[in-house]
Amino acid sequence: MKYCERCLYPENHALNIIFDKSGVCSGCRVHEEKYTSNWEKKESELGDLLSQYKGRPGSHYDCVIPVSGTGDDFFVVDLVKNKFGLNPLLATYNTHFNTKVGIRNLARLISKLDCDHLNSTVGPETIKEITKITLRKFGDMYWHVLAGSQTFPVQVATKLDIPLIVWGVNGWLDQVGMFSHHDRVEMTKKVRKEHAMRGFDAEALIGESEKVTKKDLQAFTYPSDAQLETSRVRGLYVGNYIFWDSQKQIENMIEKFGYETNAQERTYNSYESIHCFNNASVHDYVKYLKFGYGKVCDHVARDIRLKRRTKEQGHALIKKYLTVKPKALATFLDWLGISETEFFALVNPHRDQAVWGQDDQGNWYLKNSILDIQPFSESENDLGVTDPREYKITPLLEIERPTDEYILMGRTYMDERNFKAVEG
Ligand SMILES: [Zn+2]
Repeated sequence: MKYCERCLYPENHALNIIFDKSGVCSGCRVHEEKYTSNWEKKESELGDLLSQYKGRPGSHYDCVIPVSGTGDDFFVVDLVKNKFGLNPLLATYNTHFNTKVGIRNLARLISKLDCDHLNSTVGPETIKEITKITLRKFGDMYWHVLAGSQTFPVQVATKLDIPLIVWGVNGWLDQVGMFSHHDRVEMTKKVRKEHAMRGFDAEALIGESEKVTKKDLQAFTYPSDAQLETSRVRGLYVGNYIFWDSQKQIENMIEKFGYETNAQERTYNSYESIHCFNNASVHDYVKYLKFGYGKVCDHVARDIRLKRRTKEQGHALIKKYLTVKPKALATFLDWLGISETEFFALVNPHRDQAVWGQDDQGNWYLKNSILDIQPFSESENDLGVTDPREYKITPLLEIERPTDEYILMGRTYMDERNFKAVEG
């Protein structure tokens, strides 16, 4: 198993990653473009592009923006609406795993940025059945969220005849460098299936359970080629036009709109994924059980590339968080109605043999693990630290525990009476 000489990313990353002859990964190489690109020019290109969609005759909305109440969502909506003057329609696919802070942040986004909003909630029993299927078939408990959140905004745009969807950034650009920023890759049916959904489309689920029919999968079924051709919906990524720096961007959103942050079980990043109980916990734990890496590796790689941490500091964080079994797992098992033994029996067949071995007693152990790599020597690949920066924790309006129950729908306002802040 190879690990990037610069950012520690593993070669078995689920999104394709390649290493050059100095042992540096494609994610790091594409990241270097951030320091050599003319971002002013790219941003004005974005402005020109967006202005083509502004105030179209006969349409109230200029574009759709997919949101779930994350800090990145605040940044994109603020940019599109307040900087470039478009009128966006916000669209949310309900994860079913909403946290209290996530509900508040989504409400804050809609009210402080004063946008219209559509929400799509699939029936809980269907979601549970789909989750059981995808856990067994792909070793994935989060497929419905990835598929639903990539599909609903496109369905909305197609149905309401809104020809533009503005996405934030995508992992295959910002994390693994599958494409250059200069390629200006857009969201298409093919990109969605191959990169966002790891090759598994809704069709792959049909026939797997009597309880899940084609009709039940409507929320995950992309519009047909014919529909897309008629509507000419285009999906662009802001990350191709702006020097994408999530941490700095979200810090601005905390200042500007009061975005709330929260500590997490499996990473030190308190800004991302906090809208969902599972994104950075159970879903990420499953990723670790399969591939031996997790979100903390994504966050460390990014911080090293942005010259915020050394490899040694990053490695210490990976050691601290990577193997943590999240408390949120108990809530998930309870929600799905399976035991922990059943859960491991579903996940174990999907473990990558390149990083996981099994002893005579059947216990799994990590081999060639990132955890065992050390010490690090100074090399020409090291970038140094010029912008050290810690993630902030803002005060929460209400206490949040990883073992709290999921919220399907929440009270979406944020005054002091909310969330039992005062009795009333
Ligand atoms: Zn790298």
